[in-house]
Amino acid sequence: MEGLAVRSLLRSGLLRRHVPTCLCPWKVPHVLRSSHAAAPQTSAPLQTLTDDQMLMKSTVKKFAQEQIAPLVSIMDENSKMDKSIIQGLFQHGLMGIEVDAEYGGTGASFFSSILVIEELAKVDASVALLCDLQNTVINKLIVKHGTEEQKATYLPKLITEDLGSFCLSEAGAGSDSFSLKTRAEKKGNYYVINGSKMWISSAGHAELFLVFANVDLAAGYKGITCFLVDRDTEGFHVGKSENKLGIRASSTCPLTFENVKVPEANILGQVGHGYKYAIGILNEGRIGISAQMLGLAQGCFDYTIPYLKERKQFGQRIFDFQGLQHQVAYVATQLEAARLLTYNAARLVEAGRPFIKEAAMAKYYASEIAGFTTSKCIEWMGGVGYTKDYPVEKYFRDAKIGAIYEGTSNIQLNTIAKHIDAEY
Ligand SMILES: Cc1cc2nc3c(=O)[nH]c(=O)nc-3n(C[C@H](O)[C@H](O)[C@H](O)COP(=O)(O)OP(=O)(O)OC[C@H]3O[C@@H](n4cnc5c(N)ncnc54)[C@H](O)[C@@H]3O)c2cc1C
Repeated sequence: MEGLAVRSLLRSGLLRRHVPTCLCPWKVPHVLRSSHAAAPQTSAPLQTLTDDQMLMKSTVKKFAQEQIAPLVSIMDENSKMDKSIIQGLFQHGLMGIEVDAEYGGTGASFFSSILVIEELAKVDASVALLCDLQNTVINKLIVKHGTEEQKATYLPKLITEDLGSFCLSEAGAGSDSFSLKTRAEKKGNYYVINGSKMWISSAGHAELFLVFANVDLAAGYKGITCFLVDRDTEGFHVGKSENKLGIRASSTCPLTFENVKVPEANILGQVGHGYKYAIGILNEGRIGISAQMLGLAQGCFDYTIPYLKERKQFGQRIFDFQGLQHQVAYVATQLEAARLLTYNAARLVEAGRPFIKEAAMAKYYASEIAGFTTSKCIEWMGGVGYTKDYPVEKYFRDAKIGAIYEGTSNIQLNTIAKHIDAEY
C-alpha cells in the first residue's frame, strides 16, 4: 500500500518537488553519451595481441636487452644518448611504426607503437621517449597535416635517419602553452621567426623542428601556426641540454630564433590552426607517455621481485613476510590497472572512438603508479636499492617526469573533470 502511495505521489509530481532533480531515481544521467555507450563487437581481453604484435614485442625486448641495457647506466651518468641506440631504433624499423609503407614505414597500428614504447621503457625511459615522440607526435603530425610534398620530403628521412622535435613550450608558456610568445611575421613568400622555446626533447640530435609560433598575436591562440624548421636554418640555435633529475639520456634543450627565415611552403597544415594540431596530437601522445610510465614501472618491478625471493633475513626469504607480500600484491594490481587503462585508451584511438578522458586517466594513473612502484622497489631492496649500483634508483628518478610533461598531472585531472562535468 505504502509503495503504491509513493508511486502515485511521484506520478502526480507532488513528491518530486522536494527532491533535487539530479537525485531522482528515474532520471538517466547523460553518461550514456560517454565513449562506453556503444556495445563492443568482440569481447577479446584488452591484452590480446596479434601475431605481428607479439613478434614486434619480442624483437624490441631482444634489442632492448642486448643493445640498450649495457649502456643505460653510462648514458644516465653522462646525460648523453649513445648514437648506436638511435641508429638501432632506425635500423629495427621502430621510428616509423604507423607510417605507410609508401614512405618506408612499417604500416603497423597505434597500439603497436604503444607496445614498443612500453617494452623500451622497461629498460630505459629515455630511449622510450625518443621512440615515442618520433612515432606518436612528429611523424603523426606530418602524416595528418602535411602536404604530399612535405610527406615525401620528411617522412622517409624521419623513418630512417633523422630525429624530430616538438617545440611548443616556452619559459612563460608551460601548462598555459597557447600563451606562447614566439612570433612569425609574414614577409612575401616566407615567414621570419623570432623568440625562444624551452624544454625541447631530442633537440640535441634532431634535424627537424616542429615549431609553434604566433603569426598574429592580436588573434591570441588562433594565430598559432606550426612551422617545419630544419636544424641548419640561419638564426636558429639549439642551447645546452638541461642537467636533469631523470631521463638524463634524453636531451632537453632551449631553442632560440633570431630572424629565422622559413619558406611559406614549410607551414604544416593551415595558418592559425597550430593550436588545434597541438591539442589533438598531445591528447593522443599522452597514451605514449602512459605506456612509457607503465613500462618503466614494470621494468623496475621485474628487477626487484627476484631480489626479494633471494634475500634472506630472520632465516627466511624476505618475500615470505606477509607484510611484504601484501605490498607486492598491491603494486602488481596497480600495474595491471595502469596497463588496462593504457591499452584501452590506445584501442579507443584505433577504433576512432572518443578517447580524450580515457587518455588523460591513463597518463595520470600510470604516472602516479610509476612513482609509487619505483619508490616501493627502493624500500623493498633496502640499502642496496638506494645506491647507484642497482637500477631501481634510476627508475625512481625517471618516473617523476610522467607527472610533468605532455600536460602535468593537474592538467590531466582538469581534463577528466571537464569530461565528467559534461557527461552528467
Ligand atoms: C624533461 C622535459 C621534457 C619536455 N619536453 C618537451 C617537448 O619536447 N616539447 C615541449 O613543447 N615541451 C616539453 N616539455 C615542457 C612540458 O610540457 C612542461 O614543463 C609542462 O607542460 C609544464 O609546464 P611548466 O614546466 O611551465 O609548469 P607550470 O605550467 O608552471 O606548472 C607548475 C605547476 O602548476 C600547476 N598548474 C598550472 N596550471 C594549472 C591549472 N590550470 N590547474 C591546476 N594546476 C595547474 C601544474 O600542474 C604544476 O604542478 C618538457 C619538460 C620537461 C621537464
